[in-house]
Amino acid sequence: MNKIPVYLAALIFIVMLFVSTWSSNHPDVPGTPALTASSQALQPEAIPSSPVVEPSSEPQDPVEPRDAQGDKPDAVSAAADVTASPSAQSVKTSSAKPQSSTKASAQTPQVSRANSLKTDVNKYPKLSVSKGIYGQFRYRELSGGRIEIDPQWVEENIVYVKLPGVNRTVPVHRLAQDRFIQAFTTIANGTATVNGKKVSLLSLVRTFDGTWVPRHVNWNASKGLSNHSWGIAVDINASNHLRYVNPQTETNDPNLILWQKAFQPAGFKWGNSYSDSMHYELY
Ligand SMILES: [Zn+2]
Repeated sequence: MNKIPVYLAALIFIVMLFVSTWSSNHPDVPGTPALTASSQALQPEAIPSSPVVEPSSEPQDPVEPRDAQGDKPDAVSAAADVTASPSAQSVKTSSAKPQSSTKASAQTPQVSRANSLKTDVNKYPKLSVSKGIYGQFRYRELSGGRIEIDPQWVEENIVYVKLPGVNRTVPVHRLAQDRFIQAFTTIANGTATVNGKKVSLLSLVRTFDGTWVPRHVNWNASKGLSNHSWGIAVDINASNHLRYVNPQTETNDPNLILWQKAFQPAGFKWGNSYSDSMHYELY
């Protein structure tokens, strides 16, 4: 009979002991937020992670042709795979994306060379040199020094960005877009002194003459491929800048000023050294 009061007293004692111990450890905490916090912290672990269901890695070959130019013999794909890096391949297989033609800047971060190599080598028999992070592509010759690049490479690498100041939406390599935006943000906001007068950098851009253009240097098929083919170059004020600008004697030349103020700080090189002062490039 008198056992109950003893248990009750013991229970009260334990509770009081716990409360006093806890509050002495948390003197500045009113209420019981710590308990809440700890229970929250425990919660995720308490839930057993449900068994991951393998999505039965469906290697389903897309039956339908990707686009008008997309059918590719399997033998070619297999041969091309040999040269592809394993990481690139795994990216490819895990994200077999539909070939919609959205050229969003939010592409998958790791676009692989494997993709570009899995291309109809009969249609695009030539392989460009590699431009480091900007990659390489298959292509075929067109007339007039033009080339046509493997559309899959284009899909994966060329994005359209709106350039500040000139307010034009232009195609560039996805890995070059930040540099382009940096340079043209400077052009949009910067000034320079020309003949003793302060002018906007934007006023020095008289003509905007192209970014991504798949072609040979000087549109001459006997020359190498222009960096314009990779979307990593831009031409400005073309009409009177297929020439060398002397930085000592032509200090007011707009392309020299644009180089010094906008393009060099953004990491571009200037084509002036080979008498192509309209040309700024990232490689
Ligand atoms: Zn150029």
